[in-house]
Amino acid sequence: MNEIIKVLNLKKYFEIHDVKNSEKKYVKAVDGISFSINEGETLGLVGESGSGKTTTGKLILNLIKPTSGDIFLEGKSLKSFNKKNMKKFRKDIQVVFQNPYAALDPKMTIRDILIEPLSIHKIVSKYEYNNEVRRLLSIVGLSEKDMNKFPHEFSGGQRQRIGIAKAIAVRPKFIICDEPVSALDVSVQSQILNLLCDLQRDLKISYLFIAHGLNVIRHVSDKVAVMYLGKIVEYGDTKSVFDDCAHPYTKALVSSAPIPDPKRKNNNIVLKGEIPSPINIPEGCPFHPRCKDAIEICKNKKPFLRKVTGDHMAACHLI
Ligand code: SF4
Repeated sequence: MNEIIKVLNLKKYFEIHDVKNSEKKYVKAVDGISFSINEGETLGLVGESGSGKTTTGKLILNLIKPTSGDIFLEGKSLKSFNKKNMKKFRKDIQVVFQNPYAALDPKMTIRDILIEPLSIHKIVSKYEYNNEVRRLLSIVGLSEKDMNKFPHEFSGGQRQRIGIAKAIAVRPKFIICDEPVSALDVSVQSQILNLLCDLQRDLKISYLFIAHGLNVIRHVSDKVAVMYLGKIVEYGDTKSVFDDCAHPYTKALVSSAPIPDPKRKNNNIVLKGEIPSPINIPEGCPFHPRCKDAIEICKNKKPFLRKVTGDHMAACHLI
């Protein structure tokens, strides 16, 4: 299978100035992560707020520059892209946001919102704009009657459909879905997830799916990466990571996800405290202050990702 995106040892440290001690400190938002995503595949990125998921998305979108490491689109390093390549990069990589309303200009009609990317990237000639807008609206389950309406005339779910139509208008290879259903009613969430899955099947798009809801990630992902304080602590195919999780952090996340079957017992593992500040990452295993399985070595030795089975890896001294 074609590799679409590869992220290699990617780091993003934000420098901050500690006025009290007049010294420089760093927020290690992303701290040496690597993964790849093949054509038509979804990698789910999961973790609490502050784990580095959204910063990872911004780095891949080239909205912020990495401190070190590299990102490859179809084998080509982003560092080697010139202005012309970069325009193609901006076409090939799209994003669907959590809040579609913020991403849609309230003063533009849906027709104009969808024509904008078609014209910037010269996807069709201007004579075909109306037909293409009709086609895009029909793909995402909206009607051509919606063309001349404004974003405020739609429900949250419909706005997300418009956001998706805008993303697929330029025929991208890869879409970053950043919490695309977390602001929607539960009844609408599954419709949007099914739409994204259908588009992937029909258009062979690859997704990086960022979410904190584990059930959503399980539903859409082929592979899963669990992030904690800027690092990937567990990675593997979705079934292995969810059914045979090896890292105590993943076990706690999985145990606290709501189970739709009321007859099944939920053996909830309660995580102690909050995720620590990425300015003061604990020594040794960064998870040790919250880990119920921590042993002495965890306080001073960092665990690295190691094989559990096949491609399944986890960063824990107990493996
Ligand atoms: Fe817990 Fe130690 Fe494993 Fe870290 S290395 S997850 S502290 S058992």
